[in-house]
Amino acid sequence: MKILSYQDSGYAPFVRRLNRRALPEPGTRDLVSTIIAEVATKGDEALFTLTKRFDGAILTAKTLFVSDAEFAAAEKAVTPETKVAVARSLKNIHSFAKRSLRKDWSAKNAEGATVGERFTPFDRVGVYVPGGKAPLVSTALMTAGFAQAAGVPEILAATPCGPDGSVNPALLYALQAAGVTEAIKVGGAQAIAAMALGTRTIRPVDRVFGPGNSFVVEAKRQLVGAVSIDLLPGPSEILILSDKTGNAEFIAADILAQAEHGGDSIVGFATDSKALLGKVVKAIEKQLPTLNRSKYIREVLKRGTFLLHVKSFAEGVSICNAFAPEHLSLITAEEDRWLPLIRTCGAIYLGNDSPVAVGDFLAGPSHTLPTGGSGRSFSGIRADQFQRRTSIVRLDKESVRKSLPVVEEFSRIEGLDAHGRSTAIRLEK
Ligand code: NAD
Repeated sequence: MKILSYQDSGYAPFVRRLNRRALPEPGTRDLVSTIIAEVATKGDEALFTLTKRFDGAILTAKTLFVSDAEFAAAEKAVTPETKVAVARSLKNIHSFAKRSLRKDWSAKNAEGATVGERFTPFDRVGVYVPGGKAPLVSTALMTAGFAQAAGVPEILAATPCGPDGSVNPALLYALQAAGVTEAIKVGGAQAIAAMALGTRTIRPVDRVFGPGNSFVVEAKRQLVGAVSIDLLPGPSEILILSDKTGNAEFIAADILAQAEHGGDSIVGFATDSKALLGKVVKAIEKQLPTLNRSKYIREVLKRGTFLLHVKSFAEGVSICNAFAPEHLSLITAEEDRWLPLIRTCGAIYLGNDSPVAVGDFLAGPSHTLPTGGSGRSFSGIRADQFQRRTSIVRLDKESVRKSLPVVEEFSRIEGLDAHGRSTAIRLEK
């Protein structure tokens, strides 16, 4: 773990680097663009070759899609406890989603024309559910569950299969419970390309959702235009910002839970209390050996973890806004003072008793959130991203008459006389 105090010489340059921009590594960018080109030209055949290469599985036209029999077997295989957990998580997701869904509205503008917006669900969306390191069952709910709440009729899921061509049954059960209508057993950049561009057997979707590793995120970035996307949700991150009121054992447990994601995950802790920093380090050392995935965790602690003793809480807040973490855990006796100043995080967890894991699995908001600093310009998945918005305009003679002088003036400035004429003609006998 990198442990730095504001009094250390390396502190200032390190903190400056936390003000990041989400840019792809050139190697990833080039590989992904080759993968997309392969899928665009060779379609299903490219999916078979790439799945063999990256996932070690042999897929054919018959096994590319999850079959009805596989879905049915998964439903039988999962325990009643899993079914309850999925149902409880979906219940919160749906009630949260309902509050963010946009409703049609109409009103009169200054000239008396009726203007408004209409919202309709996308016809067909794609959701990516990661499966490289762990079967992210909850991600099936935190993506497709929102599409389901928005009433999307066709939801295509993509998730990698294991070397034997199978997909985790709990994941398949969750996909079905969240209203997925088709699922392909393909992961990585090739899955995103298949959903965006389509192949002989896969019909393309209108918008692609969901998190993934750097290849998945880069594919989404490169395919904007062919489809729209939700956001760029890459390897998971947390920043915990605490004053001396933080509970060291709880903070250590959250740090370890985040590091459990492995890979390129990033874990940060910043506090203005030197004593708390020391206690958190001790608590991490104590808790780590008790955890199953300590191999993954150790990697992240070594490579992607920083613990900072900041000069003041205000400095911690400004580091947080610059870093734009996916998750912020904010623990302070002065919440009313600091919370309003925090702007760029994907999700904020307040107080000692709000573990991020509860948000990951069931609180209600989607856990699919912006990473890599992209929280400055993106937000997490919301139900209204599954709605297409259309504006509506209706005029009558009176509103045409009131609008005409402005239309004629713009027509004159822009040199578009047919525009003016098309409005004036409405008022001619
Ligand atoms: P993944 O499904 O995203 O990626 C696995 C796929 O990547 C494989 O199927 C393979 O096809 C492809 N791949 C693997 N190695 C490759 C290589 N060298 N070149 C090209 N393609 C390759 O699963 P994962 O790897 O476990 O990553 C999931 C990520 O999603 C984690 O980093 C996790 O933190 C993140 N996540 C983020 C959020 C969020 O909201 N930001 C939510 C959940 C998960």
